[in-house]
Amino acid sequence: MFKDLEGKVVVVTGASSGLGRAIAKRFGQEKAKVVINYYKNEGKSDELIGEIKEAGGEAVKVQGDVSKEEDVKKIIQFAIDTYGTLDVMVNNAGIQNEVPTEELSLDDWNKVISTNLTGIFVGSREAIAYMLKNDIKGSIINMSSVHQIIPWPHFAHYAASKGGIKMLSETLALEFAPHGIRVNCLAPGAINTPINKEKFSDPAAKEEVLKMIPLNKIGEPEEVAAAAVWLASEEASYVTGTTLYIDGGMTNYPSFQAGKG
Ligand code: NAD
Repeated sequence: MFKDLEGKVVVVTGASSGLGRAIAKRFGQEKAKVVINYYKNEGKSDELIGEIKEAGGEAVKVQGDVSKEEDVKKIIQFAIDTYGTLDVMVNNAGIQNEVPTEELSLDDWNKVISTNLTGIFVGSREAIAYMLKNDIKGSIINMSSVHQIIPWPHFAHYAASKGGIKMLSETLALEFAPHGIRVNCLAPGAINTPINKEKFSDPAAKEEVLKMIPLNKIGEPEEVAAAAVWLASEEASYVTGTTLYIDGGMTNYPSFQAGKG
């Protein structure tokens, strides 16, 4: 538990499922005031609010499409209007779809870039502008992926968005460090969430993924959430402009395992 997170106001985008859900829940357990952004699944966010309240936490929900500038502004304003301030912005919402690049339409490209990268840009900009104006030494946590450094054929738009998140976050970290605002990335590997449901339901595909993970297991959303609360806490007060990989060693050249190479 991180005592300093108690009472902090935290926005989590795309929080009705997967990693966002686990992160919002964990902040709730830390007794933060959690603003759950959902896109389409209001029922799931109501369920999550119930779970957080049952555990003694506080949470509210707000609908919004992070690919729309006015919606991101609305989400942040809602947090400020409801809880009076903003301390932590977790830009988590993201999408992916598999398309060989020679068939990748501009529509698909724009959809992924506007949700994954532009959404994080606007979310970070709006949160930072509020923190600057109110002298808040806040924390911005941007959901990247191991694909911010691992190329991924058939997912060129996704990999480009995640690479962009890395450089955007590092730039913001440098720009706003003098104000005490920290900006970091979380980079999960293969985690058990709806985004991977189809792939992991096929035992052969799951086996292929496991071969790329030195710890030989698919991660759980709670393992990413644990990193998120640490990054937001005072325990990480000297950490900015970095990426925390939560990937079971996937980025550690697993093909060299057992002395190969
Ligand atoms: P998920 O599909 O369960 O979660 C994505 C969430 O984003 C959903 O709740 C969805 O409703 C929301 N969302 C999608 N478009 C949105 C929009 N326009 N506006 C607001 N919300 C929107 O999958 P997940 O695994 O929890 O993914 C969360 C983040 O983690 C994504 O950014 C993803 O790229 C990243 N990630 C996941 C993994 C993994 O293995 N699960 C690995 C690396 C990175």
